[in-house]
Amino acid sequence: MAERQEKTFKFVIVGGGIAGVTCVEQLTSQIPSGDVALITAGPHIKAVTNYKQVSKTLEEFDVEEKPSSVLEEKFPDLTVIHSAVKSLHTETHSVETADGRVFGYEKLCICSGGRPNLLMKENPYVLGIRDTDSAQEFQKHLCKAKRIVVVGNGGIALELVYEVEGCEVIWAVKDKAIGNTFFDAGAAQFLIPSLEADKPEVAAPCKRTRYTTEEPAPGASQTFTADRSSRGHGSGPTEPGSALGPDWHEGIALRGAQQVSRRVSVEYQCEVEKILTSEELLNSPQQTLRPESGSWPVYIQLTNGKTFGCDFVVSATGVVPNTEPFLHGNNFSVANDGGLQVDDHMMTSEPDVYAAGDVCTACWKHSPLWQQMRLWTQARQMGWYAGRCMAAEVLSEPIELDFCFELFSHITKFFNYKVVLLGKFNGQGLGPDQELLVRCTKGQEYVKVVVSGGRMVGAVLIGETDLEETFENLILNQMDLTPYGEELLNPNIDIEDYFD
Ligand code: FAD
Repeated sequence: MAERQEKTFKFVIVGGGIAGVTCVEQLTSQIPSGDVALITAGPHIKAVTNYKQVSKTLEEFDVEEKPSSVLEEKFPDLTVIHSAVKSLHTETHSVETADGRVFGYEKLCICSGGRPNLLMKENPYVLGIRDTDSAQEFQKHLCKAKRIVVVGNGGIALELVYEVEGCEVIWAVKDKAIGNTFFDAGAAQFLIPSLEADKPEVAAPCKRTRYTTEEPAPGASQTFTADRSSRGHGSGPTEPGSALGPDWHEGIALRGAQQVSRRVSVEYQCEVEKILTSEELLNSPQQTLRPESGSWPVYIQLTNGKTFGCDFVVSATGVVPNTEPFLHGNNFSVANDGGLQVDDHMMTSEPDVYAAGDVCTACWKHSPLWQQMRLWTQARQMGWYAGRCMAAEVLSEPIELDFCFELFSHITKFFNYKVVLLGKFNGQGLGPDQELLVRCTKGQEYVKVVVSGGRMVGAVLIGETDLEETFENLILNQMDLTPYGEELLNPNIDIEDYFD
């Protein structure tokens, strides 16, 4: 390495996302004159605002994109360096940035997040959504679009298909039900009617009934149309630069070129076979294009044998950890999902190098009720805990794995419903040793409890159920619920009083 080392910091954090910023905040609060540098690729940082601890493990907050000067004003000893890290040299404890500078570190924390796992790179008709720029790019394309194909079944796809108006949406999911990452077929059936209805303006009083579900057959498709013509949705104001937070689409007009209402068709249990231009399609021997499809800029062939023409394809198929600049020449243990493996002190396999957020894979022995999911909440918790671990190491203090990793918990919103996920909410890893209790009122609430060995181990709560705290306690204290049986979800019993 010929370059001159500019300065050595005690702590260097890479990445101005939630994980990196929270790590910086934690470190600077524990070691006020800590000599901390934040190296980040973009001019903005993401800040947690309106943080609210809802219960023991559930938390809610907003995410705002802010100029990094906000951090520097708050922490005068912090140095913010705006450049991407190009390479890491763990032997010399230094990083090199894209603008050619080299910085030394005593302790480093990599919080470089992830990037969209695009179906196809460098295809102008395939868009991913990750940050503010890509969301704006998507909006620019959408306002001229008549039909788009959304591929993926995670949170971003769920939000998109619900929010997009004035454009036909073909939604290709590889599973038997929508939203497989977050819930089961029952919850999916509960949510599906929202695709054909207007967003509720006023919550109706709660009335509970039992509810059964039917799964669509393999390769089947379902179409949902919402007549929104009576609503004045306009194009709405656009706020350039607004952050992708839990409500990232608010303030961005997700409206296509058609006057028509929302129209979503779901193609189940299929993946993408090929993405073709119209010329490629014409020369394709097995073209099975529907006759009414007209002429489109791009065509997508699905593994269920169907081909759809569209204006563009949205690839919402997850993220890949941003590890490349850090791997070359170093000896990191990398997990199967591509993340940097970290132990219960957020340490990677390289000395003095920590990692947090989407870039890392939690490789400690997890609590039986926790799993990693690449979400805002976990990015914040990991960043915060990594900061504490780094400080503890320097101060020679012992530190134990934080309580937040005891129970998986997440609050979000899908199709305008509040959604709370707790523990093994989808029976993850439980095999046949699980029993499900479900209570559902169409259009109001969906409550699913996962019981294993008589103990509650997970729950999905959709709607204003007000059950999150009680269920969180029941999961945490692992009380034997066998005597209560199905009474647990009896709507006539005030469960909160019951277990008081
Ligand atoms: P990021 O927020 O990705 O930040 C990474 C930072 O590292 C960035 O500042 C980047 O510029 C910087 N960086 C990258 N490479 C380098 C480098 N080489 N050198 C220097 N800096 C670098 N989660 C939820 O919980 N709820 C939601 O509703 C939700 N909605 C989402 C919607 C969208 C459209 C997307 C894309 C994600 C959503 N997520 C949601 C997931 C959530 O955004 C991530 O889990 C979270 O942002 C991860 O935080 P992070 O700090 O690890 O990474």
